[in-house]
Amino acid sequence: MFLSVSELTKSYQTEFATTVLKGVDIKLEKGQIGVILGPSGSGKSTLMNIIGGVDRADGGTVEIDSERITDLSDDQLVEYRRESVGFVFQFYNLVPNLTVAENIEVVSNISKRPHKIDDVLSAVGLSDKKNRFPRQLSGGEQQRVSIARAIVKNPKLLLCDEPTGALDFDTSRGVLSLIQKVNRQFGTTILMITHNSAISGMANTVYRLRSGEVAEVTHNSELVPAE
Ligand code: ADP
Ligand code: ADP
Repeated sequence: MFLSVSELTKSYQTEFATTVLKGVDIKLEKGQIGVILGPSGSGKSTLMNIIGGVDRADGGTVEIDSERITDLSDDQLVEYRRESVGFVFQFYNLVPNLTVAENIEVVSNISKRPHKIDDVLSAVGLSDKKNRFPRQLSGGEQQRVSIARAIVKNPKLLLCDEPTGALDFDTSRGVLSLIQKVNRQFGTTILMITHNSAISGMANTVYRLRSGEVAEVTHNSELVPAE
């Protein structure tokens, strides 16, 4: 199994101890798309953060491509985040005073095996806007840049946290089909949090979280993994 999350637990020690993840299991084959659904507060972001190496679990394991992320030192985790994970967020987090190409180049420059910048720009359909600044682009276009920036490093895993949360219906559809295209074209394994029901159909597996537990798993057996 390419991505294997097993019995993941996490609590936050605040005024009260809050148990956020109560033994979560997620499995994805290489090249698949997994979707995480669930109400606000059910633990979706915490789960993504642990898989992405920006937070630590209390118990359980995360393995990607036979590497056990949950065993890595802090330094190794920095390396893992830089080399192996691409992040796409609801708000695009582009650097405002860098052009589209420069926003992507920043990530490409610190990657060991990046894709060509022109290739990812072409994949997201923004070759003709590479010298624009983020403020000169629509919201949908800015999200396309952030997807290009996330995949230029050729990540093992693309993590998307509500990538269409700030976009209108039609623009969201465009961004979702772009994510699907990226999955096909680059073979990138994708895990995505979304409330957008349009995405469920293109996912290989849909996990529904409730109060820190996987309440329901739906396999979409009609879809085959990307080559
Ligand atoms: P979701 O993404 O499904 O909305 P989260 O993973 O963001 O859920 O949060 C799950 C629970 O964990 C919430 O009750 C939230 O308040 C709590 N939580 C998240 N991060 C922290 C933190 N850094 N400190 C304390 N509690 C947190
Ligand atoms: P959307 O409907 O996706 O929000 P917009 O109406 O904001 O799109 O933008 C439509 C087109 O106009 C886009 O191709 C975008 O690149 C261009 N555009 C938007 N704002 C600017 C700007 N300030 N300067 C240059 N081009 C812009």
